[in-house]
Amino acid sequence: MAEATHPTPDAWVFPRVGEELFEALRKARPERIVLQVPAGLIRNATELVERLRTATGAPVVLATRACFGACDFPSRDEAPRADVAVVLGHAPIPNVALPRPTYFVEMREAGGDPVRLADLVAEAGLPRRLGLVASVQHLDLVPLLSEALGRRGYDVRVGRGDRRLAYAAQALGCNYTGAEAVEAEVDAFLFVGTGRFHPVGLAFAVDRPVWSLDPLQSTLEPPIDRALLIRRRLLTVALARDVRRWGILVSTFGGQNRSPTALALQERARSHGREAEILLFDRLDPHDLEGRAIDAYVNTACPRIALDDSANYPKPVLTPPEFLMALGELPLEPYRFDTYH
Ligand code: SF4
Repeated sequence: MAEATHPTPDAWVFPRVGEELFEALRKARPERIVLQVPAGLIRNATELVERLRTATGAPVVLATRACFGACDFPSRDEAPRADVAVVLGHAPIPNVALPRPTYFVEMREAGGDPVRLADLVAEAGLPRRLGLVASVQHLDLVPLLSEALGRRGYDVRVGRGDRRLAYAAQALGCNYTGAEAVEAEVDAFLFVGTGRFHPVGLAFAVDRPVWSLDPLQSTLEPPIDRALLIRRRLLTVALARDVRRWGILVSTFGGQNRSPTALALQERARSHGREAEILLFDRLDPHDLEGRAIDAYVNTACPRIALDDSANYPKPVLTPPEFLMALGELPLEPYRFDTYH
């Protein structure tokens, strides 16, 4: 079995499933491959298993549990005999150690007309000093769109984040440090991609209007109401101010485990005379928290559990910075996004 290793984008990252990937896998001579696909690609999963098996000659097993990001790749326990993993739909997280060589297939999307999209942005009157952020699938559009916007008089900034991000301009739901790096130089951000997940995360992380550009539909959405997002979270903080019995949630997923943070938070809680127990899980199910003698939780796993899914939980779920606000150790303003470094 291979030693724990860090992903190196040059060697193990592919834009899509195809001959380039198959050739790299054949060279690796795997004894068994484990394939992980995100929810949106499940329909094609068995066909992909067959293509991989035929192309490499190696047995392929499919990891069937839901996966959310490159942070919860198949563990050794899930696929003990696989010596190679193929992960579809995610970019590697460079500072997360992997249990085996893992080939990331990012499923890059080539679509989107940069000239037309730049026209759309200019017609909507977005501020001239603009930061660009994109989901991994649409990163190839960033240089083309930057250039097209530049020709319309835009001063476009693209930031490089910390070691949790593989690329400049990349959005990751738990880390927008690329955007934060250029926040002071821009008056608004333009997110390039689909859905609300990243615009919402970005709006929590940066104090600038976040517009959303869907490059395939050529639609531009106005900024997320940041003030409302934060008001809701501060209400949760207020509700948890007097909580005496805290649960500290810790995930065992390789890229979601913040045990040192959890221990530090436990220590902070106890120093304020509160009880705080650490609860371990892999994938968190709200039902697992029912019936416990705990009044609120602080979640050290994926930050988006607290920010997006709180309504599904029986008790308030706070992020670590919100927890410190509830204890009175951090001020309520400025609001601090729970960046996972
Ligand atoms: S921790 Fe959450 S937001 Fe970050 S990569 Fe994992 S699933 Fe995505």
